Amino acid sequence: MNPRRRFIALTPWWALGSTAVLLAACSERTPAPAPMPAPPPAPAPPPAAAAAPSPVAVGPVDPAEPQAVVLAYVALASQADAARFPNRTAAQQCGSCALYSGAAGAAAGPCSIFGGRGVAAAGWCSAWVKKA
Ligand code: SF4
Repeated sequence: MNPRRRFIALTPWWALGSTAVLLAACSERTPAPAPMPAPPPAPAPPPAAAAAPSPVAVGPVDPAEPQAVVLAYVALASQADAARFPNRTAAQQCGSCALYSGAAGAAAGPCSIFGGRGVAAAGWCSAWVKKA
C-alpha cells in the first residue's frame, strides 16, 4: 500500500472532509498579475520644415520687408506718410534717433529695432525716439 492510500485508510471518515478542504485551500492558485501596460508611443518627430531655422535677414533694411512695412520705415524721411504721421517733424530722422548707432556723418548705420541691421541716416520709421 502506498503512503497516500495508507493515509486515507487510517484517517477517520469525518476528518477526510476537513482534510479535503485544507488541501483545496492550499492548492488554490493566486491570480496571475495583470499584464504591464504598453509603453506610450514615442512622440512624432517634428516636420522637416519646422526643424530648419528660418532665414535671418541680413544687410540693410529693405522698406518693403514685413517689419519695415509695419513700422512704416522709409529710406528718406521726407517720404514718410504725412497723413498717417502728422506729428512727424523734419528733425525726426534715423540719424537723430536714439535707436540709431551709426557714426556721425555716415550715410547709414545700425538700428537696434531692426536687430542691428543698417538703416539710412536720412531714413525714418514710426518707432523714432529722440536721442538724449
Ligand atoms: S528706430 Fe530710429 S533709427 Fe531705427 S529705423 Fe526707426 S527712426 Fe530709424
